[in-house]
Amino acid sequence: MSLDIQKIRNDFPILDQQVHGKPLAYLDNAATTQKPRQVIDAVNDVYTKYNSNIHRGVHHLSNVCTQAFEDARVKVQKFINAEHSHEVIFTRGTTESVNLIAHSFGDVFLKEGDEVIVSQLEHHSNIVPWQMLEQRKGISLNVIPINDKGELMLEELDEMFTEKTKLVALAHISNALGTINPIKTIIDKCHQRDIPVMIDGAQAVQHVSVDVQALDCDFYVFSGHKLYGPTGIGILYGKEKWLDQMTPYQGGGEMIQTVSFEGTTFNELPFKFEAGTPDYSGAIGLAAAIDYVTHIGVDNIAAYEHELLVYGTDKLETIPQMNIYGTAAEKASVISFLVGNIHPYDMGMMLDKMGIAVRTGHHCAQPLMQRYNIPGTVRASFAVYNTREEIDRLVEGILKVSQLFG
Ligand code: PMP
Repeated sequence: MSLDIQKIRNDFPILDQQVHGKPLAYLDNAATTQKPRQVIDAVNDVYTKYNSNIHRGVHHLSNVCTQAFEDARVKVQKFINAEHSHEVIFTRGTTESVNLIAHSFGDVFLKEGDEVIVSQLEHHSNIVPWQMLEQRKGISLNVIPINDKGELMLEELDEMFTEKTKLVALAHISNALGTINPIKTIIDKCHQRDIPVMIDGAQAVQHVSVDVQALDCDFYVFSGHKLYGPTGIGILYGKEKWLDQMTPYQGGGEMIQTVSFEGTTFNELPFKFEAGTPDYSGAIGLAAAIDYVTHIGVDNIAAYEHELLVYGTDKLETIPQMNIYGTAAEKASVISFLVGNIHPYDMGMMLDKMGIAVRTGHHCAQPLMQRYNIPGTVRASFAVYNTREEIDRLVEGILKVSQLFG
């Protein structure tokens, strides 16, 4: 199905503006996506029509708001095909979800000497929480290396498993390179050894259909804001069997059943992990974002973004001294590059003057940059509203900057 991109663009009010006197070309979607009017309206509706703190309310507004919040949970459940809605926990985002797992899974299932496996292409948010556990509990962290194309070296993984391996935590898609990891193969390998797997889907849910039951992953985490939804809301999906046994992450309201100074009992799933007033407007906005992408069709989005990736890669490769980092066979719509020895920051600043928004730097993946021995890259990342014309402008812009730098 061919998408009407202009019609889609019209849903995103922010795109229709000039930056430094030039039409905005927003190519920083791996950092965050823009929001369609449908999401903005859904959040606006909460505050103009039915804002009220959720759960335990007896009055009308509280019931309406609670229902919308719980409907949002079911929407997420269906979106990722979780078996139960109570396996869907609302968090602040991917980062909080990983920290929750490191804390609460770590509390119960990891002890000194145990091993967690991550990969060389992880975002810092899937490295640092495990390092903190290294310090707190004396676990150790092992790292799956990547080849020059930015693909995981799976043959190395086979050698890394020991009886002490207790969890594998991996990105579904790399934010810095775009590599789509063969997570199903990895999950199956791990499960043959009874090792649970956590998938960081921050860069995936907006680009590929995710079915957590078909994948059979034990945990799957993502952020609303990269899926055309609001900031401050994210998801932790976990299989009931793990979540049930895990300790709460934060204490407070909502996560308890009874509290007394003699002792406190905890609430059941999902509330056990949702202490305090949750970001219900964010959850409701996320549900609207899910409706939005579902209406277009995630597979249609993926097919269109793949066309942009191929078009962009072909064009960028014609630029003299272009070095593209991340050339995996399976890639999402992210192009990371350097041109000659032009510093990524200079490239980014000059493109900005032409109205083109790209990200520069280490992309919160410093170990990956160390692997390539570079300080950072320039990253263009495409979403469903981007166009070939914007990519043409990017290419012209890069050529201009190259000429300026001789
Ligand atoms: N993992 C990956 C792969 C990411 O791209 C990001 C965001 N750049 C995160 C985790 C962290 O997400 P958030 O900042 O929304 O918590």
